[in-house]
Amino acid sequence: MKTQTRAVVIGGGIAGCSTLYHLTQEGWTDVVLVERDELTSGTTWHSAAQVTNFGMNQTMVGLKTHSINLYQELRDDPDYPVQYNHGDGGIRLANTEAQMDGYRHFASMARGMGVEFEVIDAEECARRHPLISTDNLLGGLWDGNDGDIDPASLCQALARRARKAGAEVYRQTNVIGLTQLKDDSWIVHTDKGDISCEVLVNACGYRVNEVGAMMGVHHPVASMEHQYFVTDEIPGIVAADHRMPLLRCPISDYYCRQEKNGLLLGFYEQDCKTWGMDGISPDFSNDLCPDDLDRITDVLEGAFARMPALTEVGIKNVVNGPITYTIDGAPLVGPIPGKRNAFCIIGLRAGLGEGGGHGWLLAQQIVHGEACYDTWCLDPRRFTGHGNVELTALKAIEDYQNEFRFHFPNEHRPAGRPMKTTPLTPVLAAAGAEFTVVNGWERAEYFKPAPDFEVTHGFQFDEAFDVVAEEVKAVQAGVGLAEVNGFNRIEITGPDAHDFLDHVICGRVTRKAGKVGLGYLLNEHGCVKGEATIANIPEGPVWYGSAAAAEWHDMDWLRAHADGFDVSFQSLTNEWTILVLGGPKARDVLSAASRGDWSAAVFPWLSVRRAFVGTAPAVVMSVSFSGELAYEIHVPNNQLYAAYLALRAAGEAHGLRLFGARAVESMRMEKGYLHWKADLITEFDPFETGLDRFVKMDKDFLGKAALEVRQAKGPVAKLVSLQIDSTTSHAQPGASVMQDNSVVGTVTSGDWGHRVGMNLAYAFVRPDLAAQGTEITVDMLGETVRCRVIAPGPYDPETTRPRA
Ligand SMILES: Cc1cc2nc3c(=O)[nH]c(=O)nc-3n(C[C@H](O)[C@H](O)[C@H](O)COP(=O)(O)OP(=O)(O)OC[C@H]3O[C@@H](n4cnc5c(N)ncnc54)[C@H](O)[C@@H]3O)c2cc1C
Repeated sequence: MKTQTRAVVIGGGIAGCSTLYHLTQEGWTDVVLVERDELTSGTTWHSAAQVTNFGMNQTMVGLKTHSINLYQELRDDPDYPVQYNHGDGGIRLANTEAQMDGYRHFASMARGMGVEFEVIDAEECARRHPLISTDNLLGGLWDGNDGDIDPASLCQALARRARKAGAEVYRQTNVIGLTQLKDDSWIVHTDKGDISCEVLVNACGYRVNEVGAMMGVHHPVASMEHQYFVTDEIPGIVAADHRMPLLRCPISDYYCRQEKNGLLLGFYEQDCKTWGMDGISPDFSNDLCPDDLDRITDVLEGAFARMPALTEVGIKNVVNGPITYTIDGAPLVGPIPGKRNAFCIIGLRAGLGEGGGHGWLLAQQIVHGEACYDTWCLDPRRFTGHGNVELTALKAIEDYQNEFRFHFPNEHRPAGRPMKTTPLTPVLAAAGAEFTVVNGWERAEYFKPAPDFEVTHGFQFDEAFDVVAEEVKAVQAGVGLAEVNGFNRIEITGPDAHDFLDHVICGRVTRKAGKVGLGYLLNEHGCVKGEATIANIPEGPVWYGSAAAAEWHDMDWLRAHADGFDVSFQSLTNEWTILVLGGPKARDVLSAASRGDWSAAVFPWLSVRRAFVGTAPAVVMSVSFSGELAYEIHVPNNQLYAAYLALRAAGEAHGLRLFGARAVESMRMEKGYLHWKADLITEFDPFETGLDRFVKMDKDFLGKAALEVRQAKGPVAKLVSLQIDSTTSHAQPGASVMQDNSVVGTVTSGDWGHRVGMNLAYAFVRPDLAAQGTEITVDMLGETVRCRVIAPGPYDPETTRPRA
């Protein structure tokens, strides 16, 4: 056994084998995999191993396409062919128009990744799958690439190829401890001896938290028991003379694929069970949980009704095994939060289908620092302090119960809520707030006009449209107050604070006391990594502010690039909250609630100072995401309610009204402002993203060399603003922008602009189509909708209102 290597991958299921193989493909061949038992002795061995191309966003579709291409290559390898039934096709069923709209959107989104799905009606579903009835069925989504693979030979094939490239695999080698050295390298302690390495990867399936504990980390991953059974031969299958397509059913929560001449049916029962919450026996290996078919009677009935042939055959065998879930159902693939040189590929609930792609994206991140797609939807840092064991279990149960029921836009499911709150949460709830969830925080989305007001979840404009319009109008005409909790706020202290920021930000960072500026952080590839508001509090520290979800991501990034600078960082994210006061009367309200001169002459746009709001200490910034005159009032949570009451009292004379996140979203679209990880992603550089004025090529900054190379090559896409000719729905992120039946771009954000009366979207499009006035179309829910490129920020284009 080696005692020194570049990377140690812990765990020999699909996650570990795929990572090991892809590390060798990306150029790291001195790598090792350690497995406590034999390869595939965790969940992988008993997987139903369906391999679909379906994904909820383009990164997921792209990584699944990689899996499918790789698996076909392995199937066709004459030296070690893997059993892979590719192309049986699969149908996701639907019995509501809203689900069908979702499928239409997912088809539009996948088209941008070169994947064609078909939306078909109920008769066509039954024609393609002769065993199903069309009762209570509207139609479905057809995935022509669907299929299934033999898990054991897949993993052996990947390990075999990795070995050929130089990797080593140590079976029967249990990792029992981890030590990180001062130089950030690791020692992996095994029962066979120690291995020193630069980088380690946790790919331990349901034992993820045993290995996590060895490095002092808890991962938000929980296991659920999951069952399928295999039937005896079904005459209808033999008679059909072709393999049955796969089925996934959100109506009755099961999946189904052909196994020999019978069917394999897996169930997501409502009466489901977590597994291993209080520890896992060390002997549980190549093992299963006891069968419990009583639990699945509810879903079984639905499957029988859809496929009556099932009632006439016996069950051959039952499999009940642990399957891992995370808080939002997507895996955790990437850097382990708060650790250096440590990565994970965990929480895979569809690891056979996705594993090829996840290992590929992870290996790219390890070797090159970034993957070819933006991987935020998989980033382990997307859940912050709230991702504890209890919340993870509740969300795992909820997700399992809704396995095939995708989230609609603006849908936030109830399990585990409220997670993170401020003293204002119950106050806003009493005022009628409907809440959305932002990085675990309950944030007011809009204020309900009546206690029993509810919206219908779907892809069309919903009942809250007019409510949001009213909130926007109130802010535009008078003054509104909103709470923005969880905003990421890092205090940077030390003599090198500004030199450091100048290093990590590609623009000129204001050093003037009392001034606020916006800056962008690039990665080593010259692409957009982060966005930060830098505030130089007079006689105080520098504040680095960014999106709520960026809390752990940005802290890791700043710390990782601070070597050589005398700076320190402290997060204030969870201790402070912002009250946004916006609208032409905002200054009058602030002046009434806070002593001092708030005139534009003394405290102009982009200023910051300390003040009291009522009796509450605050840091006030004159910045605006709405495009109106506005103030961000940052207040410690223990005095937040006091500040709120002071502003409400002062606002009474001016008709102050509460507003929520949906109004903010509409207004920021009208101003041309961008959202991190919607419009600002690692796939594009700042010039492609339209951030030219925030880049100063005459100074040094992180990522500059790579940016120069990209600049010389010219843009691959350009972010543009679109005006869309639709009054029924806005464009969803991921929708394909089309010209002459070809995909020419992808929508990143969309919303109705209530002040300008326009349906607005941002999209990355082919550079030759980025000129204002260009007429193109968007594939929205199956319709080809006309749109045109317009100047960004159609509301108050000269930005006079925030300066007033
Ligand atoms: C019943 C069922 C049906 C499923 N059907 C599908 C499907 O149709 N399609 C699909 O894509 N997915 C399916 N899945 C999910 C899929 O099987 C899993 O996502 C996948 O197998 C997880 O692989 P993994 O490598 O992450 O974990 P595992 O396969 O559990 O591998 C982890 C490995 O780490 C090793 N290990 C743990 N601790 C240590 C240690 N300390 N030292 C060394 N080694 C260690 C373990 O021995 C194990 O071999 C199904 C799951 C179940 C339970």
